[in-house]
Amino acid sequence: MSIEKSSRTDPGRRTSALAAMTCCLAAAWLPLACGPANESRPNVLLITIDTLRADHLGTYGFRFDVSPEIDALAEQSVVFERAIAASGKTAPSHAAIMTSGYTREHSIGHGNGTSTLSDRVTLAEIFHEAGYATAAFVSNILLTRRIGFDRGFEVFDDELSAPESNRPKVVERLAPDTTARAIEWLNARNERPFFLWVHYQDPHGPYTPPAEAADRFDIPGAPDEAELPVRAGNNASGGIPPYQALPGLYRVSEYRSRYAGEIFFADEWVGKLLARAGADDKRETIVLLTADHGESFGEYGHYFKHTHTTTPDVAHVPLILRAPGLTPERRDDLVSHVDIAPTLLELAGLRASSDASGVALANSGAFRLLRQRRPAECLSGQRLPLAGRCRRCLAEPRGPHAAAVHAELGILQLESCQALAARKGADAAAR
Ligand SMILES: [Zn+2]
Repeated sequence: MSIEKSSRTDPGRRTSALAAMTCCLAAAWLPLACGPANESRPNVLLITIDTLRADHLGTYGFRFDVSPEIDALAEQSVVFERAIAASGKTAPSHAAIMTSGYTREHSIGHGNGTSTLSDRVTLAEIFHEAGYATAAFVSNILLTRRIGFDRGFEVFDDELSAPESNRPKVVERLAPDTTARAIEWLNARNERPFFLWVHYQDPHGPYTPPAEAADRFDIPGAPDEAELPVRAGNNASGGIPPYQALPGLYRVSEYRSRYAGEIFFADEWVGKLLARAGADDKRETIVLLTADHGESFGEYGHYFKHTHTTTPDVAHVPLILRAPGLTPERRDDLVSHVDIAPTLLELAGLRASSDASGVALANSGAFRLLRQRRPAECLSGQRLPLAGRCRRCLAEPRGPHAAAVHAELGILQLESCQALAARKGADAAAR
């Protein structure tokens, strides 16, 4: 990957003494760079899509045409083939994205709505202090201001009113509403560069896209595909979680087809957002698209759920980056959610927080740093210490694209477990 920074550092460009002074003063308590003034900074659009498996996008090898808009974005972008979620849960992964901290490092931890994001500098706070207009439009109840995700955002829209079909108390927001609100904000904003975070919930279960999208895909099942039972609890394996149950549907292929419809539906609205966000004729816009985690479709007996594992069905996420000066290409570095904040800040000419655990992926030194990354750091840590998990990760990979990721994760988890066993042995010897 190459990056041309000349457009951001050209001394001939106008600078604002006031903005530069503000930046330097702010640096006394926030680790900001005193770089180019706001006039030359790019806009930054961060899109996170809930529950989106990388291998269910065309650009990652899915054979059904579910994601034409995201695939078109990928054609213009650096596509990271091996991006690993910081967690299989919504809140911890987004906290890692926003703070560049692993789950063990930020205050959300492994909780999913039971704790708040109350420590570490956030991506939005740094952009805000640098003079950016900051706004967020979220669609999942676990990302609301109650959890602390509003920090640093001048506008934080978490008005969720659409109840899930099987859990009326769990509210969310659908892509058309979220997109319309984000575009309305874009239309009304002032001259400052923007940092805009838009979160889409649609691929998250239950898989209930509009009828046209719901019936659009008919993904065939295995020859011996059997009907699944509806389990008593949402955390049970071996069947359909109650919150996911759809009337008359009992086969994996039926649910996978509906899931594909949800992706197609979200993709359409991502396209509308991209078109509007990129229409700024005064500034260029950086776009980064990722997911918080994937979803299991029968892997190891888990159906239509996440949060339970770090295997590739849940841990492998898309990470697509389009930025001025970046040459479109595909990269096979092992990258993580924690790399997102340093990457976006570096591309905007800003400095990441001093406690960031990630690296700026567009930086020429990133390749070396990524190679030095400790394997255990690439995983969420949840349930890693269980030997059974290690063996399971080394099971026969499924699917042509998952194979490489699966194998690598298996190796990484095995190494983690071996390290844990060694530590336990040392502890036992010490006692
Ligand atoms: Zn999620």
